[in-house]
Amino acid sequence: MIHHSFGFYGIAFFGVILLRYFLAAGGTYFFFYSPFSQALIHPQKPDQSPSWRLIRHDIKLSVFSAGVFALAAAFILSGYSWGITCLYSHAQQYGLWYLGVSYAVVLVLQDAYFYFTHRLFHHPLLFRWLHQGHHRSRYPTPWTSFAFDPLEAIVQSLFLVGIVFVIPLHFITLIAILITMTVWAVVNHLGIDRLPLSFPHHWLGRWVIGPAHHSIHHLKYTVHYGLYFTFWDKLLGTQDPNYEQKMGDRSD
Ligand SMILES: [Zn+2]
Ligand SMILES: [Zn+2]
Repeated sequence: MIHHSFGFYGIAFFGVILLRYFLAAGGTYFFFYSPFSQALIHPQKPDQSPSWRLIRHDIKLSVFSAGVFALAAAFILSGYSWGITCLYSHAQQYGLWYLGVSYAVVLVLQDAYFYFTHRLFHHPLLFRWLHQGHHRSRYPTPWTSFAFDPLEAIVQSLFLVGIVFVIPLHFITLIAILITMTVWAVVNHLGIDRLPLSFPHHWLGRWVIGPAHHSIHHLKYTVHYGLYFTFWDKLLGTQDPNYEQKMGDRSD
């Protein structure tokens, strides 16, 4: 592997992370929010039309987040070139099974990290500084998926910086985790009324978080803090009691 300077990594990753955001959030937005696809997917008119003012705000915060995550990525790759991370590049080193297991372990850990830091961000003393920006959109759109206040972006990116020093991860596993993060964040912010009614919210929504679950958090701050799985919300009593009931109703 060719090694570059911290500055080179930072600038290159800023471009890659930003491009990823515009492709994933923009592509999903134009697909699910265009009048044509809405008429096809969902003949009833959605309840809320997004405002361009809020979308511009979400994009602005996401550009800052891209800067923070680019610094984190530059730090990780510089760390790798100094030989101080647990990242590895030979897939056979820990066995092929380990690629899948380490992927699953990191998602479970990240979900826990997200749940507890997210609950903390909602503390009245911290909310203004760390999390208000993300909640500007009461009805989130895919553009909200990466809209974090800079301090929140630092906390989120620190998970990735930390994990590469603790758990051996192949580069492919790390990339798979980053893709999962991106796709899941975009899906969680799709908005409740953008998917076809036949979408299997009712059984899928019991275990994994999706737009139906996370849309409720943007309306009601006291519930639904999880990222990937409903586990922590269920265990610690922060799941909206009407949520599973509503899921059932939607599938009727
Ligand atoms: Zn929140
Ligand atoms: Zn959100």
